[in-house]
Amino acid sequence: MSVNKSLDRLAREGETITVRNLSDTITVFVYKNNGEDEPLEWEAHESPTGGDYVEIDSTLLKNAKFRKALQRGILEIVDADDPDVLDAWAAQKSAWQAQRQAKEEADRMVSMQQPRAYSGNQCLSQEGRLQCTEFAISSKNTNEKPPLCSKHAHLAHQFTPEETGKFIDGKPEVNWVRVKMGRI
Ligand SMILES: [Zn+2]
Repeated sequence: MSVNKSLDRLAREGETITVRNLSDTITVFVYKNNGEDEPLEWEAHESPTGGDYVEIDSTLLKNAKFRKALQRGILEIVDADDPDVLDAWAAQKSAWQAQRQAKEEADRMVSMQQPRAYSGNQCLSQEGRLQCTEFAISSKNTNEKPPLCSKHAHLAHQFTPEETGKFIDGKPEVNWVRVKMGRI
């Protein structure tokens, strides 16, 4: 059972939850109530009037857009008639935090694996019988320089551009092909 679902299952007509605005600006949330647009308004976080706390109907927990505002950290639940709501909220908050941390960790791993001279083009040179797996230093001027990594940049003379007949940004698109060379 997803924790998110359990928050939504604790929505009860007639019960209230107290929700605080965490945003530095006024937050307005509009939802449909019997077909009518019903606006809820919170004053900015730490408003001197206390208008950043608003007591709302707990049926809002069923509203996906409202739960999204909780997930994004715009709003938070600070009190509820039903203590189960507070428990579910605490569990939900740590689940979201764990998800965020896992995503940040994954993003960090990906960026660590990117070579520094990443350009999106793989080096054309050979490493033994395979194509070099390094990325080319620069692919900005693909029609002036063959895409090669820093280790193979000195082999540029081995490649020659062949125009494809297409134009990119007004420049002829080229394919770099290896010049046939005899054994040295
Ligand atoms: Zn290379």
